[in-house]
Amino acid sequence: MDLLRHAPALTADAAARIALQFFGVDGTATPLPSERDQNFLIATAAGDRFVLKIANSTDSRALLEAQNAALAHVARTTTLCPRLIPALDGAPITEMTTDAGTGHLVRLLTWLPGAPLASIVDPPSSLLESLGAAVAELDTALDAFDHPALHRAFHWDLARGLALVRDLSPRISDSDLRGLVVRVAQQVDFRDGPRLDTLRRAVVHNDPNDHNVLVDGTVTGIVDFGDIVHSYAIADLAIAVAYAVLGKPDPLAAAVDVVRGYQRLRPLADEELASLFGLVLLRLCMSVSIAAEQQQQRPDDAYLGVSQGPIAVTLPKLAALDPGAVEAAFRAARGRTPEETLAARRRVIGPNLTVSYARPLKIVRGWMQYLYDHAGRQYLDAYNNVPHVGHSHPRIVRAAAEQMLVLNTNTRYLHDKLAMFAERLVATLPPPLRVCFFVNSGSEANELALRLARAHTRRRDVVVLDGGYHGNTTTLIDISPYKFNGPGGDGAPPWVHVLPLPDTYRGKYRRDDPQAGEKFAEFARQVRNPGAFIAESAPSVAGQIVLPDRYLASVYAIVRGAGGVCIADEVQTAYGRMGTHFYAFEAQRVVPDIVVLGKPIGNGYPIGAVVTSPEIAASFDNGMEFFSTFGGSTVACAVGLEVLDVVEAERLQPHARAVGDDLLARLRAAIGQHPLVGDIRGSGLFLGVELVKNRETLEPATAEAAAVVNRMRERGVLIGTEGAFANVLKIRPPMPFTAADAARLSDTLAASLD
Ligand code: PMP
Repeated sequence: MDLLRHAPALTADAAARIALQFFGVDGTATPLPSERDQNFLIATAAGDRFVLKIANSTDSRALLEAQNAALAHVARTTTLCPRLIPALDGAPITEMTTDAGTGHLVRLLTWLPGAPLASIVDPPSSLLESLGAAVAELDTALDAFDHPALHRAFHWDLARGLALVRDLSPRISDSDLRGLVVRVAQQVDFRDGPRLDTLRRAVVHNDPNDHNVLVDGTVTGIVDFGDIVHSYAIADLAIAVAYAVLGKPDPLAAAVDVVRGYQRLRPLADEELASLFGLVLLRLCMSVSIAAEQQQQRPDDAYLGVSQGPIAVTLPKLAALDPGAVEAAFRAARGRTPEETLAARRRVIGPNLTVSYARPLKIVRGWMQYLYDHAGRQYLDAYNNVPHVGHSHPRIVRAAAEQMLVLNTNTRYLHDKLAMFAERLVATLPPPLRVCFFVNSGSEANELALRLARAHTRRRDVVVLDGGYHGNTTTLIDISPYKFNGPGGDGAPPWVHVLPLPDTYRGKYRRDDPQAGEKFAEFARQVRNPGAFIAESAPSVAGQIVLPDRYLASVYAIVRGAGGVCIADEVQTAYGRMGTHFYAFEAQRVVPDIVVLGKPIGNGYPIGAVVTSPEIAASFDNGMEFFSTFGGSTVACAVGLEVLDVVEAERLQPHARAVGDDLLARLRAAIGQHPLVGDIRGSGLFLGVELVKNRETLEPATAEAAAVVNRMRERGVLIGTEGAFANVLKIRPPMPFTAADAARLSDTLAASLD
């Protein structure tokens, strides 16, 4: 406890000279606060910044070596902490003697940017959660680290706290505060004392107080390993909570925020949850007791008393809380683990909604073409087309939020955005597609498209492609072979006619047949009195199929000649995904009678749209009202407009073409010769890789495809499977997907296949 008398007392000039002499860093030195070392910020003219740390002469070399080892250990898994910079002679610790003859151990550390948490006046919940998460990250990084010098007798060790308060509390001059500290420590001893001995122990940082935590929006750094010690494994959390609650109007709420953030990454054990509040109180009692002792030694050092005012205010508030209620609040502040989330979902969500991957992902955040799981791991999203312009694209988020702040209502009132969205949408389509209807999903849009077709032709029969999927309603299941011919399906109803999938890899006519398109189309002639033909303009669910030339033109001609109308389901393919065209039907050089849009057009906000000709719209206007409560809502239109703007502003269609071409070339080079790879096909960012066990028989490699998808997930890249045999790897990323992402995908796929 007499270490304050051994604190170094160098001038800033001396510090600058040391930095230059031993580390070759030429800069100006500014003192930084410290309890017992001396710290200087060294700033060079070039703008580089470092921390020069001159140790208290009671700190042993072994202790500094242990700190250095801890810094190196955590640097392997986190960037939260500073790194050590060796001296010019390579030594991690430099020994120097002052003119006065005092010996000092000196180290140079990297400077971390950010402001101390203590400087943030009213930190929001999210920042306190981020503090908890950062402490958990540091504790996780310290797991499995140990050093003999850290099993030491140290006055800031919580495991020695009860004895310390007993010894030092008599020195607290304010009698009310002294009484409170003694009483609180006794209660902690009574309630938690026996249990504390059973707590798991580990090396802990031991001082994530609000002056050692750096913040830049979220917590970005934790500095000062000077108090590092082997103690209770939850000491860091208890200490972080103890300082984070100081001066807060509702200290319990602040504590719960920190604990929630911590448990998102590191759930606490039962006895840790029971002991946490006691350790928070104990740390504050220790702080008051140690400050009383230190202020007698160094009455003019303001930093030593920096927490005392707020502790005097907050400790009585904490002491008045019911420890049982606090424990319950800490227990409730626990994010569910992926296993618990899955179990809860199985209890309350219908069982035929499956989750992707053998080890389901708990995704908590998205950013453009990346997704992040509960542990902060990043995944390349090469699967989802709904976030067309990118997950959480800031322009879409802002458009939705700004509109929601003002108005979100239905289409029975006049609002400019409805017509503006419709005008923008029809401008992307060829004539006569000029009339829009807005609904809330691809299913609703296809359902409405069928009603339009039936109203116009007064016929019920529908022609579909094998393997197709058009939505989840009763009628759409009836026209979706993928469903009615799959598990639980009842087969095709009599009014539904299934054409063979024009698949030139595995179908009746192959790529070597220049007439394959027309020949596949001939099957449509067998349908008498078709009301509507509906197909994806590039069948996705059926296996990422690019239609052969002239297929749609030939089928459309046959169906129209027999009195039917043609519906293009562009739910997966719209808005430039195919690279060559804005819509997939354009690549087939046709103009549908009805176009159905969904998924990407709202970038995740639920928007479905049907666009048709004035003639068909007039047939539908038979006296019966059409209305969708949410369809075309003010927010939907604001989002829909913004998505179109972003697709254009960011030139996403030409981008998809360039990156898609690059990805196809990379895939062909990387895996084209792999024995499992039968076919690599696609256009733009709509690609498929078909896996086969045998390139002659084309026997599907279904289990292998599932294994590859799961291995890619483990390696941080998300794709899926499609096709009648679930043997086609589906690659359909958000459009911001880059050439670097393409390389990562291709390399990962090659490694997973191997
Ligand atoms: N059409 C196609 C081609 C689809 O892929 C889907 C959804 N997978 C739908 C329609 C149905 O859209 P939603 O799920 O939004 O109802």
